[in-house]
Amino acid sequence: MLHIKNLCVDIAEKRILHGISLSMAPGTVHALMGPNGSGKSTLAYSLMGHPAYRIINGSIHLYDTDIGTLTPDKRARAGLFLSFQQPFSLPGVRAHTFLLEAYRAVTGAMISIADFKNLLEEHMHRLSIDPSFAYRDVNDGFSGGEKKKFELLQLVLLKPKIAILDEIDSGLDIDALKIVSQGIAYARTQNPDMSILLITHYQRIFLHIAPDYVHIIDKGTVVASGSLELVHALEQKGYDAYRT
Ligand code: ADP
Ligand code: MG
Repeated sequence: MLHIKNLCVDIAEKRILHGISLSMAPGTVHALMGPNGSGKSTLAYSLMGHPAYRIINGSIHLYDTDIGTLTPDKRARAGLFLSFQQPFSLPGVRAHTFLLEAYRAVTGAMISIADFKNLLEEHMHRLSIDPSFAYRDVNDGFSGGEKKKFELLQLVLLKPKIAILDEIDSGLDIDALKIVSQGIAYARTQNPDMSILLITHYQRIFLHIAPDYVHIIDKGTVVASGSLELVHALEQKGYDAYRT
């Protein structure tokens, strides 16, 4: 479904990604691990079309469509979704309004406000988000865990083909981690063909979402790919064994 071929990306004239290739079939989970600064978020932003991240070489295809030159809104409509490592606050923008507009823009559905309210309440309940959050400003004053749950709420509403989850499990306490993990599982039951690129440092999330493939990235290159076994080996040997 998603084919990333030899992706080379520059930020401010500096090469960060050096030829990343990765293919994802529908309904699969690909974990992406790697040391800090190895290029995980750069890959996530490049896939989503952040303008500061320049694709110098290579291609990104969603089925037969070359999405590598599309603007982020068009990629979102094509079926890509990014959950930010550090979600932005939007003071003055109500969560409810933000979610309704995003839902209409991405899915193209002309849902009524009343129907959307019901849909939103159901999803918020399933993600253990208090209904009052719909009337707060997006991420404004949210705790780390609340921000991550709000990212998941968008994921569940927008039903993407590809979900890129950038460290959705970082900085969470044990209870929040469980809710977020169960939230991802809930999103998958709602949208079974969705593929997930799960960027993480911690294998504890794999207890809840078992990856089909694991990739290790270092200095902008995929240095190893395999099954969950790779994580166990990594845990023993550390990243040094996989350095480029
Ligand atoms: P990771 O998510 O794996 O921790 P990043 O993709 O955030 O790594 O960063 C990869 C490299 O790119 C780092 O060396 C980082 O300093 C650099 N980098 C990221 N964003 C920028 C930017 N906006 N300008 C310059 N360098 C950047
Ligand atoms: Mg990162």
